[in-house]
Amino acid sequence: MRARDFVTEIGRRDILKGLAGAAGAAAMGSMASTAQAGEYQDITKQDPNALVKIWAPRMQALQEKCNAVLAKLIRTAGASWAAPLQGATIGVKSNRQYIQSDPENRYISIDLTVFWDAPADVLTFAIAHELGHIALGHVDDEPSIEQSRKDEMDADDFAVRLCKALGYNKAGVFKFMHTKKGELEYMKQLASQPNSTHPTYDQRMDKARQQGFQLSRGGIEQMDALMTHLA
Ligand SMILES: [Zn+2]
Repeated sequence: MRARDFVTEIGRRDILKGLAGAAGAAAMGSMASTAQAGEYQDITKQDPNALVKIWAPRMQALQEKCNAVLAKLIRTAGASWAAPLQGATIGVKSNRQYIQSDPENRYISIDLTVFWDAPADVLTFAIAHELGHIALGHVDDEPSIEQSRKDEMDADDFAVRLCKALGYNKAGVFKFMHTKKGELEYMKQLASQPNSTHPTYDQRMDKARQQGFQLSRGGIEQMDALMTHLA
């Protein structure tokens, strides 16, 4: 892992601003982060490997967390899904799709910078959705738009079912991504295009609600944010 790779990646999430604080926190052995914009430049000036030192442990930690979540989800899915899910693995990578699955190889790729600090319910839902693609055998590389949207809904259903079984039945999930309203609007707009491979967020939220996900106050906004995590 080179520092340059991390710089490219973390720039996407605007967390360069947070690096100084994170580095300071790491030095003090604390997770608290009170960063100031632009301070990362000072960090890399003092120590070219500072970013690697920060992100390598996060990568390791997320990989371990993902392995555990995946195993838990597969157990929860039960005997009827054991065969199609057997041997499924997950890898922490740099992934501009945030998270995506390769059903043919039973493989899920998850982005480090987006998910390293995701709460358990967020991480679980996102992985469960991709696991749904694998379980349901969505191996067609170029499905029709119509089929693709159906596949996404089915993967959501699969995820909702498993998450509920694990006690994650509330959509009050996270606010760590898309804190800028404009960005969320843009993502919603993308998903609303006629050629979008995914159903609209509203459609997916409605469906999740019907499946028993509780959208409490603020929950809809959070569900929006959750959906932007799902590829
Ligand atoms: Zn999907």
